[in-house]
Amino acid sequence: MTYVTTTHCRFEHSLGVAVLAEDLLRAIKKKQPKLDISERDIICVKIAGLLHDIGHGPYSHVYDGQFRKQLKKAVAKGKWLGQTFDAGYYNGLPEVMDGWEHEDGSLMMIDAMLKYLGMEIDEMNLDMPLRQIGNGIRADCFGISDLIEGDASCEYYDGSTPLPLDRLLTSRDWIFIKECIVGGPLPPKGVSVDAAKKSKLKSKLVGRPDRLQEFLYDVVSNRHSGLDVDKVDYLARDDRRAFGSSGIVDPLLIENAHVAWGKCGRPKKCWRCKDSHNAHVKPSADKNNGEHLMICYPEKMVHNAMAFFKQRFRNHQKLYTHHNTNAACYMICDILLLADPFFCLPTADDSDDFEMNSPENETKLRLPISRANVNPQSYLLLKDSILDVIAVTEDVNLRPARILINRFRSHKLYKRVSEQAIVSHNGNDIDIPWQRKLWSMEESEIVSQIVKCSKLKSSKDVSLDLSEDDVIVEKRQIHHGMGAENPVSSMRFLPKSQLSKLRNAPEDLPRAEQIPESDYECAIPRAFLMRTVRIFCRNDDKEVCDHLTTCYHQFITLVQKREGDQPLLGRPDFQPGYDLEPNILSQSPNRCSNESFAISQSSFTEQDDNGSTQTKKRKIRGSIFDKVMQKLEDDESD
Ligand SMILES: [Zn+2]
Ligand SMILES: [Zn+2]
Repeated sequence: MTYVTTTHCRFEHSLGVAVLAEDLLRAIKKKQPKLDISERDIICVKIAGLLHDIGHGPYSHVYDGQFRKQLKKAVAKGKWLGQTFDAGYYNGLPEVMDGWEHEDGSLMMIDAMLKYLGMEIDEMNLDMPLRQIGNGIRADCFGISDLIEGDASCEYYDGSTPLPLDRLLTSRDWIFIKECIVGGPLPPKGVSVDAAKKSKLKSKLVGRPDRLQEFLYDVVSNRHSGLDVDKVDYLARDDRRAFGSSGIVDPLLIENAHVAWGKCGRPKKCWRCKDSHNAHVKPSADKNNGEHLMICYPEKMVHNAMAFFKQRFRNHQKLYTHHNTNAACYMICDILLLADPFFCLPTADDSDDFEMNSPENETKLRLPISRANVNPQSYLLLKDSILDVIAVTEDVNLRPARILINRFRSHKLYKRVSEQAIVSHNGNDIDIPWQRKLWSMEESEIVSQIVKCSKLKSSKDVSLDLSEDDVIVEKRQIHHGMGAENPVSSMRFLPKSQLSKLRNAPEDLPRAEQIPESDYECAIPRAFLMRTVRIFCRNDDKEVCDHLTTCYHQFITLVQKREGDQPLLGRPDFQPGYDLEPNILSQSPNRCSNESFAISQSSFTEQDDNGSTQTKKRKIRGSIFDKVMQKLEDDESD
């Protein structure tokens, strides 16, 4: 919508990732033959690149992000944008795993794809062909033909002559492919990738468990630095499409990649180091002392690496979280939520080309959009085209969704009415007290405070009724890949003198090191993290948008006043001569008590439109309130 030349096609991206994954491994294999990277390893990592995003729902991260988050709220509230949201509707339907994300979808779709072809992973016979379960492709013919060392013309083979075992794609290979996609060991059954990562559940690598092959896992999803072929592809692809010809994959990031030993750059996030990083296991318990065979670069590449992360920042700032992009995402999310209780997708498809040996007696269950991801068939139907499908329905219950689709198609997006940069010293500490206060608040809390401001008497136009449904508050954080930290610090580099040792056997490979920031300080941004608070208005009435802007500014002025700051954003025509809810007054970021929040709730539920400052003051009593009033008076006498 803003960048008309961009597309969001994941197919091209998947091809790009597959090609780059192969290029990168071949470049390493050529320079470091003793690493023993096999053709099979390359094919597996390439397939992982090809399939890594097949689990994405419609409109990219809308489905596994905003949509799932808002769905919980809608179910809890029993309402969404004025429409009843009957939680009972979901009774008896299969549950979605806690923390479900698109990676979980990718794992499910790989199993479904193999099943469609008549095969499945056999965990009891890892180094054998896949288990045959249907009459599609013969599992003992499913592999790589013309296996010639170093020959890029390897092709997948699905002929009729059984292949020798060393050319087959085995169950272990398919588990390896899945592990490459999640960037570590697979989660136990029924647990999402994210939940498994956050838990203390221990799982082991199965695909390539040898520590000397560990670097293979960092090609598609690099756990150490985030510099992987997935991002190399989409950052360059989107950059080129959106901003012109400048975005070209930096060939040096592929050609100059090496494998060497290096100290783990992110032990907290690394599945190998996480346990030894925890206090109960001493680091010495890890026999490699937190070192990995990892992908590193020659020292001179430090600037290319920094340029890569800067491009990441720029793309996120200007493209992926552009206010129109996000306004569109909020709108799509609302459409899907409005439709969810009234729109279902089938879970079985009769048009299978192949017969299964053991056809499951699938009842023709139908699943709502929010549960389609538990079934491969319904999930396959859940594409961006879902909006077109909803648009042609006739169900009267889907009318609100259809109206919003029409608005979306007319490009009448939700409007961003305000954007506030949060100033921080080094990306960590927020310098200005009122901004610190603002940032410490939940988005939903800010929404309700803005709406409360609109109901206050001093509000300019009380005839306009602002409701919580009109307001979207977004706390946006954009960084270079590692929050407030420098991502290049997590990378390891080799000095020129060590490059000759790259042909050593894996055990004797050189040790790559972190480069001191002083060596490339001209290239380092002053801060790695940027925060903004944005306010969007769902209502397309201009007066409501203006009113929301005014109310937001009133709210900000109040926070500024209570936090003892000079107003930066205050409107000259606005005098905060009334009482503000005590929780804003009393809360320094570290002092948030339920008690103060309870008071704030009551102060507003009791308030009516005529409630003057005095009546409100009388209604609120309690020690916290007294302290708050004291603070307010102190502030005013300053
Ligand atoms: Zn991707
Ligand atoms: Zn590690």
